[in-house]
Amino acid sequence: MDTLLVIDDEQAFGDFVSKVGVAAGFTVVVTDQPEEFFEHLRMEPSVVMLDMQMPQMDGIELLREMASRKCSSKVLVASGLDMRTIDTVHRLGRELGLGMEGALRKPVRAAELRELLTRLKGCRFEPTAEGLKRAIAKDELFALFQPKVAIPTKRCVGVEMLLRWKEPGGTLVSPDQIVPLAEQEGLIDALTDWVLRHGIAQAGEWQRMGLDLKLSVNVSASNLHDVTLPDRIEAMCRSAGLSATQLVVELTETATMRDATRLMEVLARLRIKGAELSIDDFGTGYSSLVQLHRLPFTELKIDKSFVTTMDRETEVIANAITQLGHALGLTVTAEGVETQAVFERLAELGVDQAQGYLLSRPIPAADIPGFVHASRR
Ligand code: C2E
Ligand code: CA
Ligand code: CA
Repeated sequence: MDTLLVIDDEQAFGDFVSKVGVAAGFTVVVTDQPEEFFEHLRMEPSVVMLDMQMPQMDGIELLREMASRKCSSKVLVASGLDMRTIDTVHRLGRELGLGMEGALRKPVRAAELRELLTRLKGCRFEPTAEGLKRAIAKDELFALFQPKVAIPTKRCVGVEMLLRWKEPGGTLVSPDQIVPLAEQEGLIDALTDWVLRHGIAQAGEWQRMGLDLKLSVNVSASNLHDVTLPDRIEAMCRSAGLSATQLVVELTETATMRDATRLMEVLARLRIKGAELSIDDFGTGYSSLVQLHRLPFTELKIDKSFVTTMDRETEVIANAITQLGHALGLTVTAEGVETQAVFERLAELGVDQAQGYLLSRPIPAADIPGFVHASRR
């Protein structure tokens, strides 16, 4: 049975969550006492919901304490604070290594909460290193491809490969779970090899079909400590009959960069071999100005947190990033484009390419040729 543990000092809110939680099939425990909360936390509830402002202990202190107790529950935060503050707390939880699953602004709608809880219910599959090793060896992994379109023409100019893992129990594991596990367990090189091999072979096939498409692959910074990577990529391209100029390597930073010189060397060699280099999630985490200045990028991807909900502030940021990218001669791509209104704003800002649910969700390789042809008609 799934348990939902709630800490909140507003009794009416506790009652509300309790009702929705029970209806979604949870056993619900509500408390407003930190000691009682930590007592229950030892029973490893599947979901924990936190209030940010409590008389005895604020939400941040709760998160820190949960992290130090290696809490593996899924975590939701709910608060009456503004969304920016709630989002910051959510990110902080993630940095602390907690399984942050959502941030809710009070008043919370019952439907929204029900949907979230239903999604979290029973999803207790915890990927293991052994499982992932087997998945890589036995091809339990697969990829979806998300189209990237040129904003002025809406033509599809490329696709981004996004990793998926369907484990034998049928759970679909997201890359946000796979990649950190692979990094921790020393499997990231094997994983990236799988991605490159399959992606490059697929791109070679599209090239033979006459589709002029760039393939973007995500490579974690921890892969770039391997100096043999550029040669391996070149060899894979050769055997797939793909020109390396059709490949875009998106650098996603998840681990800390230990050896900046090595990183520079590997990226420069990839660039010399013709591959394009993209700085992913720009504006967040390690995707900083220092990297932009030192490394030979050709594309900059504005992080979706500045795109998906475009308000006055995020628009100012998206605009500044675009100007910066263009001034440095980079192609600027916005990811997470979900609405026509955002698409049009991006066009006005002069962003070059867009990617997001508005244009297409990530789709199987077999559906790509149809999408490309339709976009070019
Ligand atoms: P990312 O590189 O930033 O990829 C974009 C993510 O945003 C994808 O999530 C995509 O499905 C999602 N997305 C696309 N359009 C929209 C939209 O309009 N709205 C919203 N809200 N989301 C959108 P996904 O597939 O779950 O991948 C998550 C992250 O995992 C990726 O973020 C990337 O950093 C990493 N990843 C994916 N595949 C690989 C891989 O093969 N290797 C490595 N190292 N990392 C990967
Ligand atoms: Ca990416
Ligand atoms: Ca991104």
